[in-house]
Amino acid sequence: MIRDRETLNVLLATVRRFVDERLVPHEQQVADTDAIPQAIVDEMRELGLFGLALPEAYGGLGLTMEEEVLVAFELARASPAFRSTIGTNNGIGSQGILIDGTPEQKQRWLPRLASGEIVGAFALTEPGSGSDAASLTTSARRDGDHYVLNGTKRFITNAPEAGIFTVMARTDAAIAGAGGISAFIVERGSPGLSVGRIDRKMGQRGSHTADVHFDDCRVPAANLIGGREGVGFRTAMKVLDRGRLHISAICTGTAQRMLDDALRYAVDRRQFGQPIAEFQLVQAMLADSRTEIYAARSMVLDAARRRDDGDDITVEASCCKLFASEMCGRVADRCVQIHGGAGYVSDHAIERFYRDVRLFRIYEGTSQIQQLVIARAMIRSAS
Ligand SMILES: Cc1cc2nc3c(=O)[nH]c(=O)nc-3n(C[C@H](O)[C@H](O)[C@H](O)COP(=O)(O)OP(=O)(O)OC[C@H]3O[C@@H](n4cnc5c(N)ncnc54)[C@H](O)[C@@H]3O)c2cc1C
Repeated sequence: MIRDRETLNVLLATVRRFVDERLVPHEQQVADTDAIPQAIVDEMRELGLFGLALPEAYGGLGLTMEEEVLVAFELARASPAFRSTIGTNNGIGSQGILIDGTPEQKQRWLPRLASGEIVGAFALTEPGSGSDAASLTTSARRDGDHYVLNGTKRFITNAPEAGIFTVMARTDAAIAGAGGISAFIVERGSPGLSVGRIDRKMGQRGSHTADVHFDDCRVPAANLIGGREGVGFRTAMKVLDRGRLHISAICTGTAQRMLDDALRYAVDRRQFGQPIAEFQLVQAMLADSRTEIYAARSMVLDAARRRDDGDDITVEASCCKLFASEMCGRVADRCVQIHGGAGYVSDHAIERFYRDVRLFRIYEGTSQIQQLVIARAMIRSAS
């Protein structure tokens, strides 16, 4: 749903200019230093990018899902690390509180997340529990007006920067699966919470992940999301539905950027006396990529509109994530090919993007997990 086309166009033009004039020129520096310059983070705050998806009542821009994916298409034309900086505050690091939090929890945390004053992180994955997230073993034991958390979370995006963590932990050891899990807001600085060293990753330098350890970590009972035990896994899944749609939009925008670069290269680069863009085998790679990007864009917009209409889009979000992330990988591969040897050395952005986009098929549910979600829903409705 687009509430006001004119206002949205101004926002999209502002983001487009910010990407072209500020983010793209800093991409190599971010890759070299593994850090987003503070000036860029400050500009992101001023533009309201930390609160795109948070309601105006809490200081956010209150974008609808359709508006948000349109912004994401634009933002994703720069290195994914920039998007990741604001990604958790808009997505997995805030939505649990927004969707299922108590009015007090929303009032306390959402304005600070929307302004970018603090960074939010989402801590579900553990060393022994990834795709099988419901088997998590981090425990939360009630002790008076506190819970005591013990366990380790793995690969937590923005953990080194985070001011708060949405943490899924088992409050009822007698219930092995999802039903025993609750969600907590845990503040950085809580006694017993520590963040491990920054992971060395294949790509997306400038975006950080790390382990988060809970060692008799005391969390006020008032920080139990929604004030109810046993519903934390459902909260996490609702957060991921939305996140998967957002990531699908990011895959689509990133694929567009790679294709734009490859097209420019194909037009400039000459072999056999003519631009390589004149060769039909190169044209096939360009055309296949353009077609697949269009398909992903159409899927993402359709699912976003349905979500704005109040539909349950769990299956559509998985379809989008599966198609858009795999598509993005295929486009990256073709774009390296179009660049030839230049695509394999790091002078061109495509070498970096090729590594950066590999993650899209893994996090927020691997491609195989999306296939399971889709197929299980099909089988359920047939039986
Ligand atoms: C850079 C990065 C950032 C991340 N950020 C976060 C974050 O902020 N918060 C968070 O909680 N997590 C985060 N994650 C974790 C991420 O969501 C998991 O890595 C992902 O869900 C896969 O879990 P796993 O790594 O344990 O792989 P596994 O679950 O061990 O899977 C390994 C392989 O087995 C396949 N597989 C597993 N089960 C099945 C099955 N039933 N059927 C078929 N195939 C299957 C998988 O598809 C995969 O190919 C991040 C990960 C990375 C790498």
